Amino acid sequence: MSRERIQDLRAQVDEINMQLLDLLNQRARVVSEIGKLTQQLGTSFYDAQREAEMLTALEMANKGPFSNETIKALFREVFRASMALEEQQAKAKIRVQRSSPDQRTVIRMPDGTELGNGKFQVISGPCAVETFEQMDETAAALASRGVKFMRGMAYKPRTSPYDFQGLGEPGLQIARQVANKYGLYVVSEIMDASQIPMMSDYVDVLWVGARNMQNSFLLKALGRVNKPIILKRGLAATLEEFMYAAEYIVSSGNPNVMLIERGIRTFEKATRNTLDIGGVAVLKLESHLPVIVDISHSAGRRDIAIPLARVARASGADGLMVEVHPNPPVAMSDAKQQLYIDQFHALMDSIEDMEKTFA
Ligand code: PEP
Ligand code: MN
Repeated sequence: MSRERIQDLRAQVDEINMQLLDLLNQRARVVSEIGKLTQQLGTSFYDAQREAEMLTALEMANKGPFSNETIKALFREVFRASMALEEQQAKAKIRVQRSSPDQRTVIRMPDGTELGNGKFQVISGPCAVETFEQMDETAAALASRGVKFMRGMAYKPRTSPYDFQGLGEPGLQIARQVANKYGLYVVSEIMDASQIPMMSDYVDVLWVGARNMQNSFLLKALGRVNKPIILKRGLAATLEEFMYAAEYIVSSGNPNVMLIERGIRTFEKATRNTLDIGGVAVLKLESHLPVIVDISHSAGRRDIAIPLARVARASGADGLMVEVHPNPPVAMSDAKQQLYIDQFHALMDSIEDMEKTFA
């Protein structure tokens, strides 16, 4: 009998919880409306006198069993949470900026693979597509480690016009063929909006390189594409410029954008660029978009790939990008930074090891 009564009372508590939840969120919506209006008027949304008045009114109305002190403590917590929400919303002036702490963009691929869902993902493959055999050997290694995103780069924005520029469409054909064989997704750099229809036939994720980060015409065109976009940080772009570049794509209609930190130019010469890991932490805080760390172009060398991968994993980023080639010294681009396949396996071992400590 009393067991049934307990069950009945518990059911009542459950229902009251749900009502409280509804009321709390209803209150938050009203408060955030007030926040928007006070912002328009240019006044602060924190009003100490108003808060004191609300607490006094609650004290007067309180019939117990909670003491006035308990009621005040509970409501102060509610006020604090509303203030935090208002502050966050006031700060979020652009779409790619977070407007609540748990807001996140998750990129979903057709087979259910997700990027940005909290699971660390690896994007890998050679700097550029060179031959079928080179791609096949690399793809086999990627697939054996559960990597789903393969670089299938056929257009290479090189510093010198006399350097290898990529295989073009035949390179994309190789990448597609190999990706289909191993169940991988092709990520590939697009240079110009005119390539969208042709590249869409071969590529699963379109990639905007560092040199094109501020090509606003390309970014707007990618906003009208129904495929995820990877956007790299410009060679000397601030985080603000980087986020505005992403905003071009998102505000043009495509919400599926990932950000890649790829190192910035500094005075340091030991690495090709300087990996801005602080910037990664800021992006994760400020934006809801997935953030990937490019440990290849930021370093320009393969001998520090494992510590950089570990740093990337620990930083809170959503994944890393690393170049791997079956025979790096003869690679037609970025020969110094591409990993040998056994190094790639060692890197994956190291990350898997870290996963155990994070689990
Ligand atoms: C790349 O990742 O293929 C590349 C060319 O790097 P970035 O655009 O960062 O120089
Ligand atoms: Mn490269």
